Amino acid sequence: MTRPNETPLLRAENLEKYYDSSSGVIDSILGRTQWVKAVDGVDLELYEGETLGVVGESGCGKSTLGQTLLRLIEPTDGSVYYQEAVDRREGPGQPDREEVDLTEISSSRLRDLRTDLQYIFQDPFSSLNPRLTVGDIIGEPLDIHDIASGQERTERIYDLLETVGLNASHAHRYPHEFSGGQRQRIGIARALAVDPEIIICDEPVSALDVSVQAQILNLLEDLQEEFGLSYIFIAHDLSVVEHISDRIAVMYLGEFAEVGTTEEIFSPPYHPYTEALLSAIPEPDPLWEGDQILLPGTVPSPLNPPSGCRFHTRCPRIIQPEEYDLEQDVWRSIVDFKLRLQETENVESVTAIAEENGSGNGAGLEEGEDAERIDPTTISGSEFDDLVRSEFDLPDTVSDREAELVLSQTIDELHAGNIEDARQRMNSAFVSPCEKFSPDRIPMGDTHEISCLLYDEEFADRGERRDRRLGTGTGTGTGTGSRGSGSSDEPGDAIADD
Ligand code: ADP
Ligand code: MG
Repeated sequence: MTRPNETPLLRAENLEKYYDSSSGVIDSILGRTQWVKAVDGVDLELYEGETLGVVGESGCGKSTLGQTLLRLIEPTDGSVYYQEAVDRREGPGQPDREEVDLTEISSSRLRDLRTDLQYIFQDPFSSLNPRLTVGDIIGEPLDIHDIASGQERTERIYDLLETVGLNASHAHRYPHEFSGGQRQRIGIARALAVDPEIIICDEPVSALDVSVQAQILNLLEDLQEEFGLSYIFIAHDLSVVEHISDRIAVMYLGEFAEVGTTEEIFSPPYHPYTEALLSAIPEPDPLWEGDQILLPGTVPSPLNPPSGCRFHTRCPRIIQPEEYDLEQDVWRSIVDFKLRLQETENVESVTAIAEENGSGNGAGLEEGEDAERIDPTTISGSEFDDLVRSEFDLPDTVSDREAELVLSQTIDELHAGNIEDARQRMNSAFVSPCEKFSPDRIPMGDTHEISCLLYDEEFADRGERRDRRLGTGTGTGTGTGSRGSGSSDEPGDAIADD
């Protein structure tokens, strides 16, 4: 869906929302502010009549983005441009449009624009005022914006109820008398009451039974057609946005990882995060041909996001340093080991949970059974080595000799209790470009962009090496290139030309 000649109806530029999470006396004495970078530099376009899906795991910043776009919460930085319809002529015809920066206008101006810009919240249970009748819930925006009163108001409420598949008699009842799906219909009727242009739907079906989800999605699609609405549709599940979206933005930790048409998102080339989300769909899309990828852990805290590419701490395709030639899953395990050492002061936390008899590798532990943590000083070096490798799924011997040497030295140091030495050894021996450089947005076509170093010319050959390796299952790559690793160690720097 290329629309090069069309002005987007809504456009965000470098949108940021940082929450202040400073707490307590110490922070305030030191004048220290701690920022939760919930949305961190998002560019977005929404075209007239389209649905833009925004997808990502819980905690990625989707709701913050949606609410910041409409200034339901104040952005920290950036702009949001909306093309407001301005009717200058008498008689019929298309109105002109005039650009408004939502982040700059006064709150009373913003209140007027609320009739164009509506938001549907995720939870249909808490988002409806339980003390109002359904009729008053839907009528409230009509009152606030002076749209209709008296008999006209009543008729408009009845119409809206029918539009969303309910009926006039429901107007006198209270929200608690309705099912989740019906309540979401009420929420939709309320959003429609003011005759909006854009509706941001924040996980509108996530709280509903699967059977009801499809009905609500169909309703939203029908309404879009009937009223020419534009949607931003937020979900944590790609399969939910797939059918309703024209384009999809995949969000990770406050940033867009990939943006493209739905077809582009569902076919290669993928951002590794998108690939993982796609493979997590229980019945993968017929377009999807990859293997199931399980992403470990959860989204890291946006209080202190990972350096470089924010996804590197979990990415199955994290790029390996030039000097090694490792199987990709072994490389991933080495990075996991390194990251664990960075965040722990505790040698035990890098060993696998042993069985109660003190040996073995943790397999066979019954669920709920209390595992005894092992004291590394009481076991032999080789037992300790086994436990560490089994914790990180590392082979007894890593095929790359250089890497194996570093690993075994690290494990020896840990066994001797020198966690700081071990940490430093790993930190200096194993550095991925993905930790050092934040990826640019790389165009894959007119409508498709991926932020990932694998698609950056600078690192493309390493991606190919990885693909060859995955394809053949052997560990023979070249890896003899002598590219320097950039001129700066600062995370977030652009890639240095060398
Ligand atoms: P999503 O909708 O994708 O689940 P959110 O936008 O709700 O993500 O949250 C993004 C991040 O911002 C999370 O880490 C969340 O804990 C944090 N966050 C959300 N609201 C606030 C707030 N009012 N104050 C501080 N942190 C917040
Ligand atoms: Mg949310």
